[in-house]
Amino acid sequence: MGDHLVRAISGNKEIRAFAVSMRDSVEEMRSCHNTSPVVTAALGRLLSAGAMMGSMLQDNDKLTLSIRSDGPVEGLTVTADAYGHVKGFAIEPQVINPVREWDKKLDVGGIVGNGTLRVIKDQGLKEPYTGEVGLISGEIAEDLTLYFAQSEQIPSAVGLGVLMNKNNTVREAGGFIVQLLPGASETSISTLEKNVGEVKSVTDLMKEGKTPEDILRILLDPLECEILSETPVSFKCDCSRKRIEEVLLSLGEKDLRELIAENKETEVKCHFCNKAYKFSVDELKALLPSV
Ligand code: ZN
Repeated sequence: MGDHLVRAISGNKEIRAFAVSMRDSVEEMRSCHNTSPVVTAALGRLLSAGAMMGSMLQDNDKLTLSIRSDGPVEGLTVTADAYGHVKGFAIEPQVINPVREWDKKLDVGGIVGNGTLRVIKDQGLKEPYTGEVGLISGEIAEDLTLYFAQSEQIPSAVGLGVLMNKNNTVREAGGFIVQLLPGASETSISTLEKNVGEVKSVTDLMKEGKTPEDILRILLDPLECEILSETPVSFKCDCSRKRIEEVLLSLGEKDLRELIAENKETEVKCHFCNKAYKFSVDELKALLPSV
């Protein structure tokens, strides 16, 4: 089965839980952006979180997760909708750094550094909802846990992981989010504490062949795990030539005329998927306001 997201609730209705498998989506992202292994891990984690947080949205709402930081990657942006579509980019996609000394893992926190995580939910209202927290570690799961606690007042545990093959393609990717609902009992709290503590790494579970549904059952055990939905997830960009034309127009007439004056083909790449759109001088001229 391809990438998919599972939503569940504990039998006592006190814990809601999300888990997602993301190998194909993160590999698609990696091949679009040619990200280095550590950036693949960083952006893959944020994409996994995006897919799950997107599933918390209503119909046509849009979610943006944006990290801006002082580490060499400088920033990561992911957007997601409620239907399992995610896309994203890193400001510096080819950053490399040494693996972490003590556990030989890709040092995501080391390329992210200090900065902020912003969560923007566009619910079609005049002002989108925005929550912002300072980064704790830049490892992303911990930063999101803080966001849920501070901005949404929801006690949560977040696990995210990306495991690479030796040839730098993606072997496993995915994550989980479990959240205590208001009024949760001591039983629910201690069950989650124990289970989350025992799950060391989400990619270890996936390597053993565990599906998102298996992972949710492990996290909620011995509570009953009621599966609410299962949806496919994909890395998918909705860019189009029309949208890129709008970007060119937004440069303003003066800059557009300067591009035309260069008298050569212009290439504009979509930030989110890196697809290149080419515009001949005549096509650029056609964009100018007709007076
Ligand atoms: Zn695109």
